[in-house]
Amino acid sequence: MLKSRALLLIPVLPALLLAGAPAAPSAATASWLDPYREPASRLIGEALSTPFAWERLALVGDTFGNRLSGSQALEDAIQWAAAEMKKDGLENVHTEPVKVPHWVRGRESLDITAPRGAPLAMLGLGNSIGTPPEGIEAEVVVVRSFEELDSAADRVKGRIVLYNVPFTNYGETVQFRAAGPSRAAAHGAVAALVRSVGPPGLRLPHTGSLRYTDGAPQIPAAAIATEDADRLQRMQDRGTRTRVRLKMDARTLRDADSFNVVGELRGREKPGEVVVVSGHFDSWDVGTGSTDDGGGCVVTWEALRLMKKLNLRPRRTVRVVLWTNEENGTRGALAYRDSHKDQLTDHVLMLESDSGVFRPTGFGFTGSDAARAKITELAALLRGIQADRISAAGEGADIGPSVQAGNIPAMSLDVDGNYFLIHHTQADTVDKIDPMDMSRASAAIAVVAYVIAEMPERLK
Ligand SMILES: [Zn+2]
Repeated sequence: MLKSRALLLIPVLPALLLAGAPAAPSAATASWLDPYREPASRLIGEALSTPFAWERLALVGDTFGNRLSGSQALEDAIQWAAAEMKKDGLENVHTEPVKVPHWVRGRESLDITAPRGAPLAMLGLGNSIGTPPEGIEAEVVVVRSFEELDSAADRVKGRIVLYNVPFTNYGETVQFRAAGPSRAAAHGAVAALVRSVGPPGLRLPHTGSLRYTDGAPQIPAAAIATEDADRLQRMQDRGTRTRVRLKMDARTLRDADSFNVVGELRGREKPGEVVVVSGHFDSWDVGTGSTDDGGGCVVTWEALRLMKKLNLRPRRTVRVVLWTNEENGTRGALAYRDSHKDQLTDHVLMLESDSGVFRPTGFGFTGSDAARAKITELAALLRGIQADRISAAGEGADIGPSVQAGNIPAMSLDVDGNYFLIHHTQADTVDKIDPMDMSRASAAIAVVAYVIAEMPERLK
């Protein structure tokens, strides 16, 4: 996944030529696009001429590290981002307060204790309670589905359940992490383990949130590497009774103060109408939160910096929001929806980038048929960087609450990369990201945001 940064400057000219080229025979024939070809070329050219976005993301990770809600690192990064936005020349830069959950991992470990001792690669799940100081030791019962859990109910009481469910896609597999611990607890399990929600990698556990069922007993829970899940499965299949000891200091403290960071380029004619671009600035407490979602923050922020740099001030306001607390609460998203309740009807579009920054292929879009047709035509401006595909669903955990409340058109950056291999692991660091992909993503988002904010008629 590491790619040479030496290639950075080479594609600039072809991209410029293609973006500014006379209309090709298909969708690019839309003549309403003509006034936007030149500014789009300039935005793409500027973005591709510099590794600025990647360098800024590297600086975030190197300086602040990971940024879990409630951590000093997140709050320091938030204050830094607001100061940097001002230095970029953005307007109305401010932070909006949000109370966020404050979960702390503490020390943790998982060991096979019988028939022979061996450490396992684990990460406790966010929101989990801890174990007693001496840990919880019990026999492991491995299941491959909730049905298997239910039919093994009489063997689960007093034991530690392991869900060994191979990754298919996030939506499908994540339910074992989110709901699995409470379902095991309902059968009397004393702790739960989950095969990491991601494809097999290099024996890395993936953390993430669990959700305890209201009023049900709570048990500690952790993710283990796919390799270790397979090992425990093979041991059970051979009839070996395997015992493990789980130790977790995890605890939840009082809610902490945090902030969404907001910066704008005020619209020159209709400043009250807003195009929002966004990523979430909090991360899990492993790696440096570079793909999830520091990269999404930087490339959306770049859209405004590029416009400012090139003196492109669209008719409507373009606003960047760096959300807090996506990972274990989405409180930043909810606070924005509530505090901007009366302005949601003036939100023309909300965009989120939270699938990692790999090679951008285009955008997901959700909105009216007319708006989709417009966006599909607009995407022709991105053909030069091959980011012109418009797919079915525009979505994001952070834009979701506002999008629903205000019935706002929604977009998300689509990328081609193995996001879930490093998602929520110690390997989520900036070196997995190609500087050129950061530049391409910044360019694509800048062009879309600019045109939607500049079009005489509002996107409907
Ligand atoms: Zn994310």
